[in-house]
Amino acid sequence: MSQSKLFIFISLYIALVIYTLRPIHVVEPELQGKINLIDNLINANCNNPEDLNRPFQTVYEFTDLPTNVIGLCNTLNHYYKIQIDKTYWAFATEREKFSLIAHEMTHCVLDMNEHSNDRDNYMYYALNPSLSIATITNQIIENTKKVCNE
Ligand SMILES: [Zn+2]
Repeated sequence: MSQSKLFIFISLYIALVIYTLRPIHVVEPELQGKINLIDNLINANCNNPEDLNRPFQTVYEFTDLPTNVIGLCNTLNHYYKIQIDKTYWAFATEREKFSLIAHEMTHCVLDMNEHSNDRDNYMYYALNPSLSIATITNQIIENTKKVCNE
């Protein structure tokens, strides 16, 4: 390979890395309100923000998830992606929507991988439609303090 071809190759490679690693924050507009509420709740109750998972690439999107799956959190070092089943969302109540976003953000932002054994906790593996927004709010605060106040 001649010098100039090598230079072009290296330049293209660097451009590709810069492009791939650029900051991206993609949010489905319909999800933004609840994301903001939960983000504010987490920020207000966290004494050590460096304990939170705040990568420079985040995606919140609607998609078609497999039967019985209503939400997913995927994480990598520099990246997380939350996927919400669009059919579930279309028929969900306000408290179910709040619970689902809170559940996935707890996995992704608080980096909590485990589920609760308590059916009355928003981190139970299956969504409990009778949980009130007030109860879920208290449970988010409890988890936030567990993750970033110790
Ligand atoms: Zn989960």
